[in-house]
Amino acid sequence: MKSMGTLEDILDNIGCGICVSSLEDGSILFTNEKFRRFFRTNIPQKDMEQMLEGTGIKSGTGEIYVAAEKKWFDVHRTEIVWVDGKNVALSTVYDITENKKYQQRIEKQANNDFLTGLYNRMRCEADMEQYIKQSKKEDGEGALLYMDLDDFKHINDGLGHQYGDVLLKAISHSLQRIVGIESNCYRMGGDEFIIVVTHTKYWMLGKILEEILEIFSKPWFLKGADYYCTASMGIVRFPADGDNVQELIKKADMALFEAKKSGKNQYAFYGDGLESGSFKRLDLEKNMRNATMNACNEFEVYYQPIVDVSRPGNPCTGAEALIRWNCENLGFISPAEFIPLAEYLGLINPIGDYVLKKACSSCKYWNDTGHPEYKVNVNLSVVQLLRNDVAERIQTILQETQMNPKNLTLEVTESLAINDMTRMKQVLGKIKELGVRVALDDFGTGYSSLNHIREMPIDVIKIDKCFIDDLGKEPFEEAFVRLVCELASTIGMHVCVEGVENKQQFDILEKMQIQMIQGFYFDKPMPEAEFEKKYL
Ligand code: C2E
Ligand code: MG
Ligand code: MG
Repeated sequence: MKSMGTLEDILDNIGCGICVSSLEDGSILFTNEKFRRFFRTNIPQKDMEQMLEGTGIKSGTGEIYVAAEKKWFDVHRTEIVWVDGKNVALSTVYDITENKKYQQRIEKQANNDFLTGLYNRMRCEADMEQYIKQSKKEDGEGALLYMDLDDFKHINDGLGHQYGDVLLKAISHSLQRIVGIESNCYRMGGDEFIIVVTHTKYWMLGKILEEILEIFSKPWFLKGADYYCTASMGIVRFPADGDNVQELIKKADMALFEAKKSGKNQYAFYGDGLESGSFKRLDLEKNMRNATMNACNEFEVYYQPIVDVSRPGNPCTGAEALIRWNCENLGFISPAEFIPLAEYLGLINPIGDYVLKKACSSCKYWNDTGHPEYKVNVNLSVVQLLRNDVAERIQTILQETQMNPKNLTLEVTESLAINDMTRMKQVLGKIKELGVRVALDDFGTGYSSLNHIREMPIDVIKIDKCFIDDLGKEPFEEAFVRLVCELASTIGMHVCVEGVENKQQFDILEKMQIQMIQGFYFDKPMPEAEFEKKYL
């Protein structure tokens, strides 16, 4: 008895919990004081034994979490012969709750995005590895959604980063409330998110997509006003589209680009149709980067004359500069195809500067060789307009080329005005201070609102080709062009009609007292030398 007492004393003073249970009937034969203190709540003997056994640790080491105690334990289990000669299981138990909590805190910091509280890129990669494995093992299919906010830059740059942050948080919050993806939303950085629909939730994909787009159908209230911010998504399926995270993200990004190119605020699946297109895109991207690095010498600026039809003989008044890319590896690529990618990749800035410089020096030459009135129009992408130093850059180019600012017209679209009229007005105001004119391009397409004409400081409205295509066929188009012309002349703006291809269209427009026309009916865009031969 005494020796048992001594043993008990020793065991009670040991730093870990000890539990001895019979291997025959599972009854607990001995626990030390530490063990009893660990499990204050009196877990019945049977349950305790089950719990220890339930760790799956027959012999060896493992970890258990005891929900009733909210504690983590390290358990070591060995089979030994007890003092009475019976075969027993000896379990030693260490409380590792503090370590565990610390580890979780560190993991949270390493796995979560500081701003939104969503998981971050690192966690996404780790999770995806598991999800891919599981879906393969269980022969299921999951989806990865790569989401990018459309024109988030407008809001961020326009309202300030603190409001951009508010929006990112609000969006994250809404995403996490969608059933099925609550714990699978990740912020990858900036305005990019990944949402994973695991194979067990794949059947909900349609509804999830609907709910995501629904989030963006309503305006966000920021800085006292409503702002719209939509999102585009590229979707890949796993493991079908790839069995590693990097490959899946790359393909989802390609699909995302397709969604952007098709007009944003939508999703596109990475699929068969896309594959050849995306390889082409990768090629395009590589070649465009090279071309831009090589002083843009694969790019050429063409000029399409703009004629004044209000004067006899319809004299040329100048031209619109239109970029052409004759890529050494891929052949001729039209701007409609590469400008959106250039914008997406940010390469539009150096390319745009190149066009502006070329166009200004050409126009300066025309002005100096007998046509002081010739003007040149240059397209400015919204990405360029968003640069803080846009006006300074234009000014520098005007100075370098010695061109008369009043002969330069910059063509912009309404896309910035939709989200941030204040900023649009401010940017255009600065540009106009240089003495440059501004034209509203592609008017009538997309979001056009007559109100924009009134609010934006513009000099010229360019009516889009799509209205001219149906002139003489559809009464609406004719009425629209007439309306815009009357409105413009009332407020002292000029109208230029684009895409006039035939005599019938021209005749209708002539009766409306249009002033400027640009279209194949007069001439196509042509290389500089050809334009100068014909029009100088
Ligand atoms: P845009 O600024 O609206 O330019 C007019 C487009 O319509 C040009 O196409 C021109 O060739 C075409 N066009 C003009 N008249 C007619 C016609 O009678 N019939 C037909 N079928 N087409 C006509 P292009 O050169 O292919 O350029 C397409 C778009 O690419 C431009 O539309 C512009 O948005 C963009 N783009 C072109 N060059 C630049 C550039 O240097 N910078 C930027 N940011 N965008 C550019
Ligand atoms: Mg244009
Ligand atoms: Mg246009």
